[in-house]
Amino acid sequence: MTDRILVTGGAGYIGAHACKALARAGFLPVVFDNLSTGWSGAVKWGPLVKGDLMDRAAIDAALAEHRPVAVMHFAALSLVGESMKDPGLYWRVNVTGALNLLEACAAAGVGNFVFSSTCATYGDQDGVLLTEDTPQRPINAYGGSKLAIEQMLRDFGVSAGISHVIFRYFNVAGADPEGEIGEQHVPETHLIPLMLDAVAGKRPALTVFGTDYPTPDGTCVRDYVHVSDLADAHVLGLQRLLSGRGNGVYCLGTGRGFSVREVIEASRLVTNREVPVVIGDRRPGDAAALVSSSTHAIQELGWEPRRSTLRQMIGDAWAWAQKPGFRE
Ligand code: UDP
Repeated sequence: MTDRILVTGGAGYIGAHACKALARAGFLPVVFDNLSTGWSGAVKWGPLVKGDLMDRAAIDAALAEHRPVAVMHFAALSLVGESMKDPGLYWRVNVTGALNLLEACAAAGVGNFVFSSTCATYGDQDGVLLTEDTPQRPINAYGGSKLAIEQMLRDFGVSAGISHVIFRYFNVAGADPEGEIGEQHVPETHLIPLMLDAVAGKRPALTVFGTDYPTPDGTCVRDYVHVSDLADAHVLGLQRLLSGRGNGVYCLGTGRGFSVREVIEASRLVTNREVPVVIGDRRPGDAAALVSSSTHAIQELGWEPRRSTLRQMIGDAWAWAQKPGFRE
């Protein structure tokens, strides 16, 4: 029988791409999602269980019915700005959801857990290249809630024997190169889709959040990674767990940062159109620069971030933006 993986948040942007990668690697992804920010139309590679991580009985039922060999946990609130306005929401939803899920895994004997963490757990670190060993000092509630879950995973490893792989994502971008799925957030807050909306005339302009950061051109620097490369890393992390190679923590970035202005310039080259831009204030909670070393994932997991060029990420996102998207 095909091994099943319970994918929380599998109807969302990153989770759906992970489901495609899982299916391609021979697994059956069972999506557990409350559809608060995800789309049922993005669930294409296995069944959808509509359920909420606040509902422990629903998690227990899904684990009992599908008997997954592992859980991939993507479901979370993930907007830095929103987390600064309503930190309680982030602590409650992200931490309680993960706690319910881990307790359910412990009770059901599911011993393998892949977790979506974030570079937001590092906070502002003066532009140093971030590695798995860099001390984590989050500056927003989103990063704080994810760091708490990392700690929770270590504790459950000891108490319940749940092995984990933690991925700290840098800036995930792009869309499935085959055009089956892509990014569709409501409301959209991310740089590349907002920029492409402005290029397409769907919004008047892109607001650049701050030009007075201590970076070479004054705009924030981020390390962008293609969503399909990120999805591949999850399959490699899962295979690491299933082959008994133990816990792991991996930064998923490319080792190269790009400023907001550089992303805008790359867009001009890819789309052949200008980006209408207005300069705005800094966004609360934004670090000046977040760039990752990717060597650990490359060396230990054999990860190849081969699609993570600005050209391909913006190109695939631009192709996806021409499609009708998900309706439900
Ligand atoms: N950004 C921007 N204008 C926007 C959205 C984002 O200037 O409308 C900047 C933001 O300040 C950050 C970078 O683009 O430096 C990436 O932001 P995004 O929200 O895509 O990801 P985050 O870094 O918050 O995870």
